[in-house]
Amino acid sequence: MPQLNENFLKLEKNYLFINIAKKIKAFKNEHPDADIIRMGIGDVTLPIAPAVIEAMKKGCDEMGVKETFRGYEDSGAGYDFLREAVSGYYKSFGADVFPDEIRINDGAKSDCGNIVDIFGDDNVILVTDPAYPVYVDSNLMSGRKIIYADSNEENGFAAMPDENVHADIIYLCSPNNPTGSVYTRDQLKVWINYARKNNAVIIYDSAYEAFITDPDVPRSIYCIEGAKETAIEMCSLSKTAGFTGMRCGYTVIPDALKVTASDGTQVSLSQLWGRRQGSKFNGVSYPVQCAAAAVFTEEGLKQVHENIAYYQENARIIADTMTKLGVKFTGGINSPYIWFKCPCDMKSWDFFDLMLEKIAVVGTPGAGFGKNGEGWFRLTAFGDKGRTIEAMARFSELVKSLS
Ligand code: PLP
Repeated sequence: MPQLNENFLKLEKNYLFINIAKKIKAFKNEHPDADIIRMGIGDVTLPIAPAVIEAMKKGCDEMGVKETFRGYEDSGAGYDFLREAVSGYYKSFGADVFPDEIRINDGAKSDCGNIVDIFGDDNVILVTDPAYPVYVDSNLMSGRKIIYADSNEENGFAAMPDENVHADIIYLCSPNNPTGSVYTRDQLKVWINYARKNNAVIIYDSAYEAFITDPDVPRSIYCIEGAKETAIEMCSLSKTAGFTGMRCGYTVIPDALKVTASDGTQVSLSQLWGRRQGSKFNGVSYPVQCAAAAVFTEEGLKQVHENIAYYQENARIIADTMTKLGVKFTGGINSPYIWFKCPCDMKSWDFFDLMLEKIAVVGTPGAGFGKNGEGWFRLTAFGDKGRTIEAMARFSELVKSLS
């Protein structure tokens, strides 16, 4: 009889968004005519930029011609043309990342989850709380010990390390999902120094880097000295270029990042990860890699930035509403997420129910992202501008009626 990985039984039974979907369904059954505005799930809504679609079509056409057809890609790490484009992109904002340090993947979620394969089960994992759930779940699935660094109102939801606590692997996400907070250069320096002191590795998720506008907020951890010896970075085109349905991202493991094995040898994490991916992953389709490379062309960047600017305008509308109402929040700047404190000290799920019932606006209860999320709430700027304005008008009425 097969034995189960019983760590799975310790996971939360219902995934956050399944609970939300159930509540919406029940509400719709009771109020079939309700005009529901969804600002919950962090998915993009604008179509993919024309230059990107053109490149993908060209890639498809090449697949239909004998001379240009492509099967498996040799290295499995991604085509050189895309790795060079990603490297150029990094260099454009001051991060010295080379093509052979980059591996192309089918989005950041897979790598965020799969990276645990190359680390032993006895590592102490440090996750900031609240957090994007995959960091916690993938480590719980393999039975690892997780400790938490509190992100809360006092530190502006940007947790900093406790020098008295040891960790081996540290997950950081900036701009943060769900809190929209960001780490400055100085704060990242503190984390890197902490990692060095503890011989720890940082796993840095920069999936929302394209939303950064503040010059003091680094677009990559590699903008900071010492990061190449301590950090792995994961990024994705999902939010940068609307690739949630296309699936393409990249992970950077610098050559300088080495860990000492139990026999004393220095092991390159890049080689270990390459070995893992070589065994378990066969790469991203050629047309999608062509599309991804087009994102980093002059025309592609211009077009994807138009979409990002649209979402940034929505974020500004939401943030302005919160400011006018005197509701405390983080995010909205450098981020498509607005993380606000529920009025009247309500709990997250209670406020979710109230918003759905009274104004038919759906968001995400902060409690679903960790214990420090209780009493907080996430709205996303990925929707339609008109609908965002309408949602904020309804929200203003609701909050005024509470006070
Ligand atoms: N990292 C963060 C912080 C995210 O919020 C998301 C998606 O919402 C991802 C990674 C994964 O994105 P994808 O797998 O689409 O690249």
